Amino acid sequence: MSNNEIQYLERCVELAEEALDAGDEPFGSILVGADGAVLHEDRNRVGGGDPTRHPEFKLARWAAEHLTPADRAAATVYTSGEHCPMCSAAHGWVGLGRIVFATSSVQLGQWLAELGVPSGPIAELRITDVVPGLPVSGPFPEFAERVRELHRRLRAAG
Ligand SMILES: [Zn+2]
Repeated sequence: MSNNEIQYLERCVELAEEALDAGDEPFGSILVGADGAVLHEDRNRVGGGDPTRHPEFKLARWAAEHLTPADRAAATVYTSGEHCPMCSAAHGWVGLGRIVFATSSVQLGQWLAELGVPSGPIAELRITDVVPGLPVSGPFPEFAERVRELHRRLRAAG
């Protein structure tokens, strides 16, 4: 992974921290164009009661409104946690390119199980179960403990 990519993932984890501090769940994501420019970023916003307000879903819809199909395909989404099936599908439907995730859905499942959090209503599918053939990278061990701690803080606060 290049230094730029580490910086993009760092920004995603910062956004996850902002989300947690604001009463939302700790997830953050950024959309990066083929030239390396950050095109859009968002964080989880489910605290208001809409459980679909995931940043990856928002980035997919932003891309559909603002980017050509070619620019979407050339763009990369960096995210603090691997896409859920809803966000993977949105990403695939709008034709976005590669996904780089700091931590995986498998890791999140393990952390939540350790915290005694019951499984959610959605199957734990990997991105490539939902979007076959999509290039993905992750998880990266240097982010695991930091992100795990955010999930611990969320459950301790709840
Ligand atoms: Zn999602």
